[in-house]
Amino acid sequence: MRKLVGSCLCQKVQIEVPDDFEYMGNCHCSECRKFTGSDYSSVGGLSSENFSFKAGEEFVSVFPKSEDTELAFCSSCGSSLYSRKLKTGKHNIRLGILDDIPTHKPSFHIFTVSKAPWNEITDGLKQFKKGPVKS
Ligand SMILES: [Zn+2]
Ligand SMILES: [Zn+2]
Repeated sequence: MRKLVGSCLCQKVQIEVPDDFEYMGNCHCSECRKFTGSDYSSVGGLSSENFSFKAGEEFVSVFPKSEDTELAFCSSCGSSLYSRKLKTGKHNIRLGILDDIPTHKPSFHIFTVSKAPWNEITDGLKQFKKGPVKS
C-alpha cells in the first residue's frame, strides 16, 4: 500500500498513513472552523491502527474536546493535525498537513448548517446539513 506522509508547519511532527482513507470530506462545523482557523476543515478518516508517527510524537498536544473526541496539534507551531475518535477508533487527518497527494479527493460536505456565511459552496459534492455521514 502506498503511504502518505504529513507534517506540521515546523516539521517537528511527521505522520504516515496509507493512501486508503475510508472517507474524505469537508466539515463546516463551528468547532472545526475554530480549531483550524479556516472556513472549513478537509479531513480523511481511517482506523487508528493504520495511523503512525514518523517523528515528533512528543510534540503533539491533545485537547479533549469531548468524551469521544481528542483534537491534536503541534505544541511547537500550533498546526492542527487530526482529531481522534475514541469510541469508533478512528483518526480524522487534516488533509492540509499532507505532503503527498492522496489518490482520492473529498466527496462531501457536512455541517453546512454552520458554514461560514461568506463561504459559498460551488462544487457539486453532496451536502449534508449535519453529520457525520458514511462515504
Ligand atoms: Zn509543528
Ligand atoms: Zn467539524
